[in-house]
Amino acid sequence: MSQTAYDVAAVRADFPILDSQVRGKPLVFLDTAASAQKPQVVIDTISEFYEAHYANIHRGVYRLSAEATQRYEGARDTVQKFIGAADRREIVFVRNATEAINLVAHTWAEQNLEAGDEILITALEHHANIVPWQMLGQRKGVQLRVAPINAQGEVILEEFEKLISDRTRLVALTQVSNALGTILPLEQMIPMAHARGAKVLVDGAQAIPHMPVDVTQMDADFYVFSGHKLLGPSGIGVLYGKHALLESMPPFLGGGDMIESVSFEKSTYAPPPARFEAGTPDIAGAVGLAAAMDYLQGIGVERVAQWEHQLLEQATAKLAEIDGLRMIGTASEKSAVVSFVLDGIHAHDVGTALDQAGVAVRVGHHCAQPVMEIFGVPATVRASFALYNTPDEIDRLTEALRETVEIFR
Ligand SMILES: *Cc1c(COP(=O)(O)O)cnc(C)c1O
Repeated sequence: MSQTAYDVAAVRADFPILDSQVRGKPLVFLDTAASAQKPQVVIDTISEFYEAHYANIHRGVYRLSAEATQRYEGARDTVQKFIGAADRREIVFVRNATEAINLVAHTWAEQNLEAGDEILITALEHHANIVPWQMLGQRKGVQLRVAPINAQGEVILEEFEKLISDRTRLVALTQVSNALGTILPLEQMIPMAHARGAKVLVDGAQAIPHMPVDVTQMDADFYVFSGHKLLGPSGIGVLYGKHALLESMPPFLGGGDMIESVSFEKSTYAPPPARFEAGTPDIAGAVGLAAAMDYLQGIGVERVAQWEHQLLEQATAKLAEIDGLRMIGTASEKSAVVSFVLDGIHAHDVGTALDQAGVAVRVGHHCAQPVMEIFGVPATVRASFALYNTPDEIDRLTEALRETVEIFR
């Protein structure tokens, strides 16, 4: 398989929505960094699960409930293998990356951090990896430190290392910046944090759809991501945590499924992962996520990464030819995201003009306002590429941008 050329037409045929027309033109979908489109096999797996196997899990002694439980727990095995976790009990199903980070803030951090302790993040973080720590800071008097970036949008490693002190209890890092596409050198950063005794939470929301990830090899203490950016359904996400850590943590939400025994005097909690999965979860979502992972693995994550890298290089070269276009984020290691501004034209006007041409891009601050501030722009236009995008679509993007520049000048 790895010897044959990447067959993007075959990949596109798996995604029914890519056949749609927008304003009479074929859709060019360049917003996968916000959420990915879904292959037919994911859509079919979810509807087939509801049609033929659905019941609540972990409860019934009857056949359907046993089947549904098997599919849900099977999805946990799929996730475990996909991210290289050592133990299936290290996989906790949550709603999304945001919930996973909040879970860690309300359990592990609540239990282990005290006033004067520090959490180190980077200037590239998504709001989901900033706000929960600020809220924790307000509750507990914990300080938030921020590692700066350079003009290319790369973390300055020396500064990062200097900011890790004996008071640093947690380093919370994105693996790939959603606003700029910067890939962080975690193989250097994680050992720096561990050397000072800090735990590391990795926000993998933008990484896991686009590159092979092995949480055990990277030695993350926590790793979080969302299913919807990984060709899976929305409403399901994953918190990975090292087993010993999860074992030591108090529950997040209380209710059914997370207990061992309940009386009005006292309840005892189930071991992880059940301890963190109170109530009926998104059963079909977990099953759909497993189907998305199987699909991606069938093509090959490494091959997808290579294809996307070619698209990035092509887009970077073509956009450089556009008059008055300034690229925001030019890191040497980037995933397939281009963020830019056009001289004298507001990003929202660019987005609207591109929509007229059937090209869907994101405009705004991309839930990373601090990054925008550093580059002195309120918003950028962001095009993000995925396994189903083509060189032809990049031409459509650049043509539409040229026309936009002409109209506005
Ligand atoms: C999208 C994203 C999140 C949040 O994901 P949700 O699915 O909205 O919870 C967090 N971090 C990064 C880097 C993201 O791109």
